[in-house]
Amino acid sequence: MTQRLYYDDSYLRRFEARVLGTSPDRRLVYLDRTAFYPTSGGQPHDLGTLASQPVLDVSDEDGGIAHQLETPLPEGAESGPVAGLLDWTRRFDHMQQHTGQHLLSAVFLRDLGAETVSFHLGAESSTIDLAAPLPDAASLVRLERAANAIVFENRPVAVTYADSSEPLNLRKPSARAGAIRIVEIDSLDRSACGGTHVKATGEIGPILLRKIEKIRNNVRVEFLCGFRAVDAARRDFDELSSVARFFSAPREQVLALAEAQRARLEDAEKTRRRLGAELATLQGLRAYDETPPDPSGLRCRVVRLGSLNDEVRAEAQSFTSRPGAWFLALGSRPPAVLLAVSADVPSAGPRLQSVLSGLGGRGGGSARLAQGSLPNESLLAEAERLLLP
Ligand SMILES: [Zn+2]
Repeated sequence: MTQRLYYDDSYLRRFEARVLGTSPDRRLVYLDRTAFYPTSGGQPHDLGTLASQPVLDVSDEDGGIAHQLETPLPEGAESGPVAGLLDWTRRFDHMQQHTGQHLLSAVFLRDLGAETVSFHLGAESSTIDLAAPLPDAASLVRLERAANAIVFENRPVAVTYADSSEPLNLRKPSARAGAIRIVEIDSLDRSACGGTHVKATGEIGPILLRKIEKIRNNVRVEFLCGFRAVDAARRDFDELSSVARFFSAPREQVLALAEAQRARLEDAEKTRRRLGAELATLQGLRAYDETPPDPSGLRCRVVRLGSLNDEVRAEAQSFTSRPGAWFLALGSRPPAVLLAVSADVPSAGPRLQSVLSGLGGRGGGSARLAQGSLPNESLLAEAERLLLP
């Protein structure tokens, strides 16, 4: 077994230990003691170096804690102590997020009656899953403020041990038997936990609640503590400032300006659609006038374009509003066909349906206007040949 030095001193970042064993390739190393935290309880493993070799992973195995090295442990390392050095920036960040989680979970329970179901400490942000309905925005703001107030009170965070047979008064009952490690935030929370924590709430730094979403029957709360919160606030400010510069306006006016721009854009889009339809209608009538009738008196028009749209539909309807007219539009992305005919020309729907289904496509419509699709672009020419009157 490995003695877990981080249990009694989570601030220990340099230590010496003896090698008890290695894997045959000497990349997995087992020590008599370690300050490296293995992945568990929602907290990721530490990084750093062991015998000057980078540590890639640390995991809790039945036989002890396994340190996975980037390169094999040097021969002869077993003869003396080896030095371990933690990546302290990473570890301290984990201590901030993890202690922040204890604090938040306690405040969620105290103020909203919401129990924590699970916790995940991620590379970018961390999440707490709560067994609760979605809280309203105002209570989240209140809760965030209450959590930060406890940070500023700089309450002690203590680690004690008790036996599972004693009354433990934990926020969440522990299933473990025997010695229980208890992490206590003064006058707020007692939790059974084997993770690493800061020694006073002030070291958690600022706490920010971020995205709140419903996941099945639970609510997932994303949060940031310490430098993560500072970095996020900096990013948010910079991004908002960039948007404000884009609008040439103060930050405070950005939301109102964005809303006004959206309303103008919606109006402009409505106008564009109306004008587009009017123009297409006029184009249809002009094309009718400019298309000479064939010997049978039929005026045929074929249009090829990127994709079928409302404009070509309006042009087809306008062209075939006059007698003796036949209009075919071919779109390539996606491969699609539109056929429109005048009231005095044989029905469009059944003809289009039979041609397209013969080519592996599908479609249909009314006697005057029909539309359909083809499995690929190369069939458009064949569809055109078969549909021509
Ligand atoms: Zn913990």
